[in-house]
Formats: sequence, structure tokens, C-alpha cells
Amino acid sequence: MAEKMQFQAESKRLLDMMVHSIYSQKEVFLRELISNASDAIDKIYYKALTDDQLVFEQDDYYIKVVPNKEARTLTIIDTGIGMTKEELENNLGVIAKSGSLAFKSENEAKDGHDIIGQFGVGFYAAFMVADEVKVLTKALHSDQAYLWESQGADGYTIVEATKDQVGTTITLKLKENEEEENFDDFLDEYQLKSIIKKYSDFIRYPIKMDVTTS
Ligand code: ADP
Ligand code: MG
Repeated sequence: MAEKMQFQAESKRLLDMMVHSIYSQKEVFLRELISNASDAIDKIYYKALTDDQLVFEQDDYYIKVVPNKEARTLTIIDTGIGMTKEELENNLGVIAKSGSLAFKSENEAKDGHDIIGQFGVGFYAAFMVADEVKVLTKALHSDQAYLWESQGADGYTIVEATKDQVGTTITLKLKENEEEENFDDFLDEYQLKSIIKKYSDFIRYPIKMDVTTS
């Protein structure tokens, strides 16, 4: 069994805030994950421009959103630069710049509304809608893929894994529905399309959708 690693203290507090978020626009988690996917593709795109060894066609750069109603999962796939084990540890176990910024304004907005609206909270926003997050990733020029897995504040694990393509696949196990919150919305093709249109219209890579029923 993989050793459970602990989040850095500041990350853990932000994570707790996300898990218990009463923020009404939980849908922004998708904006955050798509923007990370786009950043990751930017990184590989610019590398390919100056690296003759890297042959990339326009069609190779894309983001894919895959809802699976049966499994109650939502998967976001990108063909970006991926992460090494060290990057997984450093980037997802520790709060990123935008996260820190967001965190500072915690006292000004107890319900998290302004925090998320103004700064975005990045990757951890996934925990507003998911009780389990898996990140399968393979970095450029690396033979080894890794799986990062977390159920929230009690930490995360990283194990070796297999993945053919360079890039990152993030799978969210959506939370059970609550009285006021229907997380099933994030499995619905039309709802997803409208959220993507609303927040990610400016993304310069194609955002595809695969609808899986089993
Ligand atoms: P920010 O995007 O402001 O840096 P995030 O919390 O959104 O903060 O993401 C933290 C970091 O995790 C990113 O800076 C990036 O290095 C890494 N990361 C997150 N998602 C991906 C992804 N899909 N592919 C590659 N790296 C990623
Ligand atoms: Mg981000």
C-alpha cells in the first residue's frame, strides 16, 4: 500500500474550505480544471515550437470532458505536458500562487464567494464537487506514469501507474446529491456544455466531449 502523504498546512485549510464549501457556483471547478489543462497544453505547445524532436500536430492538442453516469465520474483529459512525480508532489500537495492569494482574503469573505470569484482557487476546487480525485499523469520525456489520489483533507497517495500518452487525466468521483445540490448536473451533457460555454469559451484548444454510458 502506498504511504499516505499529508497536505501542507495551508493547503489543508483551503481544502477543508472547498470540501465544506457552501459556495453556490460550484460549477466553476470545471473552469479551473480546464484552465489547468489549457496551461499544460500551452507548455508542451511552446516546447514543440523550438524542439525538432517533438513532433506535434494541431490535432494532438485537445481537452476532453467525459461524463460517466453509471460510474458517477467526470473525467477531464488533456494532452498537455503532464507531471513528474516531483511535480505532482510540489504542485498538488502544496498551494499554488493563485491559491495562496485566494487564501489571504479568507477573512473578508467567509462563505468563499468572493475568494473563488476574484481569484479562483485552482485545482482544489475539484473538492467542491468530488469526494475523491484521481490524477493520472505522464510527463513529457518520461517513461513512467503516476497516479495521485486523494479523498480530501486526510492526505494523498502517489503510486506508479501506466499511461500511454503524455498528458493528464483527472477523474472526479462526484459527491452524493444533497438537499440543495444536485451533483448529477455535472454528468449531464447539456449542463456541461453550457458551463463550458459560460466559463471556458476563450480556451484556444478544442474541448471535446465523450459521453460514456457504461
Ligand atoms: P495555478 O493554475 O494557479 O498554478 P492550480 O491549483 O490550478 O494553480 O494548479 C497547481 C499546479 O498544478 C499548476 O501550476 C500546474 O503546475 C499543476 N497542474 C494542475 N493541473 C495540471 C494539468 N492538467 N497538467 C499539468 N499540470 C497541472
Ligand atoms: Mg489553475
